[in-house]
Amino acid sequence: RALIEVNGLKKRYMMGSQEVWALDGVTLSIEEGDYVAVMGPSGSGKSTFMNMLGCLDTPTSGTYHLRGEDVSTFSDDELAEIRNHEIGFVFQTFNLLPRVNCLRNAELPLIYAGMSKRDRRERAAEALRSVGLGDRLDHRPNELSGGQRQRVATARALVNRPALLLADEPTGNLDTETGDEIMELLEGLHRQGNTILLVTHEEAIAHHARRVIHLRDGKLEREETVEEPALAG
Ligand code: ADP
Ligand code: ADP
Repeated sequence: RALIEVNGLKKRYMMGSQEVWALDGVTLSIEEGDYVAVMGPSGSGKSTFMNMLGCLDTPTSGTYHLRGEDVSTFSDDELAEIRNHEIGFVFQTFNLLPRVNCLRNAELPLIYAGMSKRDRRERAAEALRSVGLGDRLDHRPNELSGGQRQRVATARALVNRPALLLADEPTGNLDTETGDEIMELLEGLHRQGNTILLVTHEEAIAHHARRVIHLRDGKLEREETVEEPALAG
């Protein structure tokens, strides 16, 4: 079965007495190794969908199976556990700890996973090498360029070897050239077999993925298959 199976997913928010269906019945499968972009205008439900797939929140109704487990019924503690082990997050704003070096930033998820210091350091160094920062282990974020900071964030996201890499507007704070560099990095990670879900409102960024899902008003409006992905650079 697919790595991710989402069925009739709905999320309702209440604005006073007004109901808002941020997601209104989304059904989608993601296979291991897929590279999927979620596109849509502001308010179409992208963040809500990402929060569901990232196990940051649970749906109002519908199911979400991750590796065959229905995580839509999980408690907050169980969700946190899944999040720590199965999901890697990359955000627009990097979210690095400013006062510690790359190695310590990249090893953070392994601290939550309870791994020994020696193993953590080894795995974090390996993750940083895999994003081309093997020679920056001891640098702090403010000693790095924006693109390098996003690479550190990507290394941190990968250090747990997550089932799913979630990238939410990963180029949003970068200039075009640096953004292309990050898209090239994601392309490489895709080729190595990582499963990637990219959330963006930019068509050109979305077309780096192999499947583009268009959301509108909380519904999956259409899906495109990208035959020749945009080549970075
Ligand atoms: P996008 O990320 O595509 O901009 P969102 O998922 O943030 O879309 O929002 C989808 C809809 O749900 C919007 O109408 C938004 O106003 C509403 N919404 C999102 N989060 C909340 C919330 N916490 N409370 C109330 N309404 C919300
Ligand atoms: P948006 O894309 O709507 O601007 P963010 O990307 O900042 O929002 O965050 C999306 C969701 O992820 C939010 O629910 C936020 O609480 C959560 N989040 C943000 N940073 C982290 C983090 N470092 N680890 C886990 N969850 C986070």
